[in-house]
Parts: sequence; structure tokens; C-alpha cells
Amino acid sequence: MKQLNKRIGIIGAGVSGMTAGHMLRDTHEVVVYEWNDAPGGLIRCKDVDGNLFHQCGGHVFNTKNEVVRTWFENKFELDKEFIHVERNSVIAYDELRIPYPIENYLYYLPIPMQQHILSELLHKDETIRPKNFEEFLKQQFGDTLYEFYFKPYNQKIWRADLSSISLEWLAGKLPNPSVAEILLSNINHTHEKSFVHSSFWYPKHGGSQFLANRLAEGLDLRYNSHIERIHQADGGGWIINNELYGAVFFCGNIKQLPSLLPLGVLTDSEVDRIRALAYHGTTTVLCEIENNPYTWIYLPKSDYRCHRIICTGNLSPANNATGKRTATVEFTDYTSKEEIVENLFLVPFAPKYITHVYNEYTYPIQTADTREFISHLKNKLRAYGIYLSGRFADWEYYNMDVAMSAAMKQCEIFLSERV
Ligand SMILES: Cc1cc2nc3c(=O)[nH]c(=O)nc-3n(C[C@H](O)[C@H](O)[C@H](O)COP(=O)(O)OP(=O)(O)OC[C@H]3O[C@@H](n4cnc5c(N)ncnc54)[C@H](O)[C@@H]3O)c2cc1C
Repeated sequence: MKQLNKRIGIIGAGVSGMTAGHMLRDTHEVVVYEWNDAPGGLIRCKDVDGNLFHQCGGHVFNTKNEVVRTWFENKFELDKEFIHVERNSVIAYDELRIPYPIENYLYYLPIPMQQHILSELLHKDETIRPKNFEEFLKQQFGDTLYEFYFKPYNQKIWRADLSSISLEWLAGKLPNPSVAEILLSNINHTHEKSFVHSSFWYPKHGGSQFLANRLAEGLDLRYNSHIERIHQADGGGWIINNELYGAVFFCGNIKQLPSLLPLGVLTDSEVDRIRALAYHGTTTVLCEIENNPYTWIYLPKSDYRCHRIICTGNLSPANNATGKRTATVEFTDYTSKEEIVENLFLVPFAPKYITHVYNEYTYPIQTADTREFISHLKNKLRAYGIYLSGRFADWEYYNMDVAMSAAMKQCEIFLSERV
């Protein structure tokens, strides 16, 4: 057995925990504990009568981060194992099908609405400094586009008054085109290529479970292991499930820390702040759907509660049972089967319910001081040999590639401090 300081226990076999596992396994003996019976966390998929069901959303991969790209390309044969898909997403509102992002396609809207939007864009007051999400969207796109699309769509996702959402949290994730750019895109019918998912890689078989299964290869993974507590060993290090480790990578949910860690590690005020962290869940519904050419369909209309259709059946033909075309439909937070079915009845492309799953934790919500608090906690726990990484350990709204990059950075810190 390697020395104590060469043994690392990782909690959580999502993208973050498995990335960390690979980063550390050349120099350390690594064991990854996973609550579930399969790897992947949020990216898990299941087969339902020959249809692939993404258990959360419908995951696609791309990255602008060169380090992550190179690492990913070492693990996968992109050309052989993946389909390269061009994004083709629309906003569906009654009979309108407006390509995404809506501000580049104002010419799809009724003329009087276009006139209002243009007038607001051309007369906007650049001196206003928006203080919250609502003010930002109004300032950026004007009241008409805000009321038609941004407000109802975002209210469905966040289920909150948009004026209560802080801008710090959304920094770097908000559309920020200038009026000149919007006008040029509309005049030239330009297609947006700057999003990370303007085009993306999607596995030929198995959806994102294929990614998870490959990332699990080569790791010592202990499934069905729900780690409820870890203990400090007398001679130093940490005990997880009766095994001794020099350090712990926690890639689960920060909300679990108060019960996972021994008493006294966290102060009462830290526990209170962890408990106060807000979040949303997602109900993901597998449906059969009308044939259509889209990747994502956004649903701003407030008559029904779901906000997005991910046309997973269009991403790979292998995702559909013979003769079927499937998709997942997303609702924010818990939604009962009765409510789902009532809503689907009103949705364009006639989605027919097959099955659904609810994930309690999908979207972490930050307030102005969340990042500072998490950073404080990460620094404090590092001194105990506990490293936090992941969407819900960092309480960050990461995509897979950003979760990978964050895990890599945390491993670099660990290796520089402990080797
Ligand atoms: C609706 C939705 C759609 C998305 N779409 C995309 C997309 O298309 N492309 C993209 O790049 N990203 C997408 N993302 C983001 C992506 O899902 C995440 O960035 C990524 O999956 C986060 O991985 P993670 O390992 O940090 O966390 P998780 O996936 O949450 O993994 C945590 C793991 O830890 C395990 N665990 C937790 N506690 C314990 C414990 N005590 N003991 C043992 N195991 C434990 C859990 O079971 C889980 O397996 C989407 C996210 C959502 C919510």
C-alpha cells in the first residue's frame, strides 16, 4: 500500500470527481466513492424501451478551454465515437419559430413589434448601470423584447422575480451584444457562432452516459457507497468507509458538509450560511415528439410551465426506438405527473409523456457574497486536507468542461501543496 499521504479518497463520481481521479491517479492511490450504482451524476442516462433518457436535461459537449479540449481528445476518439452537431435552436411562441438568440432574428417578429424594439434599442440610455437581472435585460434589449421573451422565459427557469437575481452570479453568462452588433446580425442574417454550444460533440451511442462510462475506466470506483460521515484518524488523515486517506476530494454537494464533517470543523455561522444557499431542481420528462429539425426549442409562453425541449432524439438516431422521435422537456423544480401531462398538452410539437425524473439539485443560486464565502470555505478545508470541487461543491453554474477545468485546477493546487 502507498504511504498515507499518497492515498486520496474522492467522494462523487460525477464529471468533477472522475476528472480529479484521472489527474491524481498517476501519483496517488485513488478511490472514488459514488452513491449511485453508475457513474455520471447529472450526466447519467438510462434506456427506456429503446429510447435514451437523459436523467437531467440532455447533455452535449464542447469547450473553448484548450487544456480541457486536449485532455478530452486523449480520452475519446471524437471523429469515430461522436457526431459533430450544429446548433439549430428556436424560440417557439404560438406559430412563430424564431431562431436563437432572438435579438439576432428580430425580422421574424411582427412588424409593429420590430418597430418598438428598434426604437427602444436606438434610444437606450447607456449611462444606466443595471443593478439586477431585470434591469440588465431591460437595459440591454428594451422593454418590448423583455416582456415578450426574456421575462417570461427566465421567470420560468428561475421561478423568481428577476429583480431579485444578482448580476454577480450571472457574470460571464449574460448576452452582451452592442446595438450595432444586433443591427448588423439582423441586416446580414448572421448566424451566431460565439456560444460554446454553437456546435458540439454528441456521442453516437449512449448519450452522456457514454462519456461517464469512459471517464470511469481506469478508476477504482466504489458504487452504491453513500458516504454519510468522514472521520479524522488519530495519526492524521481521514477515514472513509473504514479506509484511511491522506486527503479527501469532496465532489458532492456542499449542503452535506455539516453532517459529513466532524463537529467543530465548521463554525455555526458557516453551517448557517451553507444551509441558506439557494438552489433549484429540475423535472426532466422523456417524451415522444413530432418530427422537427431542432436541437433545442425554447418555450417562453407563460401559459405552460415547462421552459425548454431538448430534442435528444435529433442528436443521435441511436437515441430513438424504431419509429419514434424522442426529446426531453424541462420544468424547473418538482412537477407532478398530472401537472406535467396537463402542461404538455399545450406545448408546441405535441410532446407525449413517456416517463420523468426529478433531480432536487440542478441549479445553484448565488448571491453577491456566495463566491467569497465558498472561497473562504475551500481555503479553510484545504488546511484539513479536504478539497472541494464540482458544481455543487463550488456552488457554481458550471458546464461539464468548466467543471473539468475547475477539478484540474484544484488538483494542481493539491499537488503543489502536498507533494
Ligand atoms: C439541466 C441541465 C443541463 C445541462 N446541460 C449541459 C450540457 O448540455 N453541457 C454541459 O457541458 N453541461 C451541462 N450541464 C452542466 C453539467 O451537468 C455539470 O457541469 C456536471 O455534470 C457537473 O458534474 P459534477 O461532478 O460537478 O456534479 P454532479 O454531476 O452533481 O456529481 C456529483 C456526484 O457525487 C455523488 N455524490 C454526492 N454526494 C455523495 C456522497 N455523500 N457519497 C457518494 N457519492 C456522492 C452524486 O451521486 C453524483 O454522482 C447541465 C446541467 C443541468 C442541470
